Amino acid sequence: MSQAFTLSDEHKMIQKAARDFAEKEIKPIAAEFDESGDFPSETIRKMGEMGFMGIEVPEEYGGAGMDTLAYVLALEEICKADASHGTIMSVNNSLFNYAFMNFGTEEQKQKYMVPVARGEKIGAYSLTEPMSGSDAGTMRSRAVRKGDEYIINGRKSWVTGGPVADYVLLYTMTDPEKKHRGVTAFIIDADRPGFVRAKKEPKMGIRASATSELVFEDYHCPVENRLGEEGDGFKIAMTVLDAGRIGIASQALGIAEAAYEASLEYAREREAFGKKIGQFQGTSFKLADMKTRIEASRLLIYQAAFAKERFKTTGERFTLEASMAKLFASETANFCANHAVQIHAGMGYSKELPIERYYRDAKITEIYEGTSEIQRLVIARLETGLR
Ligand SMILES: Cc1cc2nc3c(=O)[nH]c(=O)nc-3n(C[C@H](O)[C@H](O)[C@H](O)COP(=O)(O)OP(=O)(O)OC[C@H]3O[C@@H](n4cnc5c(N)ncnc54)[C@H](O)[C@@H]3O)c2cc1C
Repeated sequence: MSQAFTLSDEHKMIQKAARDFAEKEIKPIAAEFDESGDFPSETIRKMGEMGFMGIEVPEEYGGAGMDTLAYVLALEEICKADASHGTIMSVNNSLFNYAFMNFGTEEQKQKYMVPVARGEKIGAYSLTEPMSGSDAGTMRSRAVRKGDEYIINGRKSWVTGGPVADYVLLYTMTDPEKKHRGVTAFIIDADRPGFVRAKKEPKMGIRASATSELVFEDYHCPVENRLGEEGDGFKIAMTVLDAGRIGIASQALGIAEAAYEASLEYAREREAFGKKIGQFQGTSFKLADMKTRIEASRLLIYQAAFAKERFKTTGERFTLEASMAKLFASETANFCANHAVQIHAGMGYSKELPIERYYRDAKITEIYEGTSEIQRLVIARLETGLR
């Protein structure tokens, strides 16, 4: 199919590098890590060496110094092989590095962003709590300032990379009266006392992207580890999520494509009633709908990537573009994975093929970094102005 966009040589290069790496290093181990739920440290380290853990981070800070389009192209290829690796890559690039690039001091960037961009350390983002997910402003964890430190207490949940992260960007309340305006962001060093890695979450999909609760028990956080000012936390969390949602949209696109390509191949080979199953309209129409939604997702993702680039010069937020891309691409991933199971039928249900993994992995893209209902809320508010 002809593409509306012609990629530059640089973009084609990173796309190919990610595709080759994913085929050679990730695809062969994806099923094994899905089964065990182990964190794929070795491939993540290699991805760091390839520059995939800090694609948009400037080279002088250990990154690849490329743009958002490069990021989405690479992430799509990684997720086509395995969504778990993609989740880890997405959190480190979008939710961790991007926060430092926009809100970090020079010292904070050097100390925390550089090693994460190089893939030598793992970063995490911790906003959600057991009693507050979509409604993050109602969080119960607290940071209380005592001299040059903040004492942090509370329980956070669903932290991607929680069991292994070296640094965590923590969002917690410094002024509960002010609700979301009382949230402050802190850089947590996992080596300090009072940081407890708690229950590891047993998950349906993206099983190799370790997820856990984190508990803070009188954790002493030096003032210089506050990211931004007191009360800036919610703004930082949401700005970073705009970037994150473009990443999740790319993840969804990768899953959708993997499901589509496998289905197309199967439809060309599998026979029933003396015909290839792809010759039945019931199958070919499914494939037509899958491909159309995939290409529509791609356009929304590229549009969001360009909007994010524009932000660097104009400061114009790209919330709407990011939400639309995530909403549509995540629903496309689920649509395609569902059809892929149906086209493969019995073999789609079998663990001998990756189809059932695509089906399980696709679901998370409609849940994290804002559920589909929250994306619709954001889009409706921004488009209609109604609350
Ligand atoms: C595998 C995994 C990894 C995750 N990783 C991270 C991470 O690294 N860091 C982090 O901070 N969080 C993480 N999360 C948390 C994730 O972002 C939340 O699960 C998500 O935001 C939804 O919150 P919740 O689960 O509490 O659902 P709830 O907010 O309780 O929502 C329940 C249901 O109500 C709906 N709903 C809620 N409010 C509204 C509304 N106003 N209008 C319409 N419908 C509404 C929701 O859409 C949903 O269907 C992760 C979650 C999972 C499952």
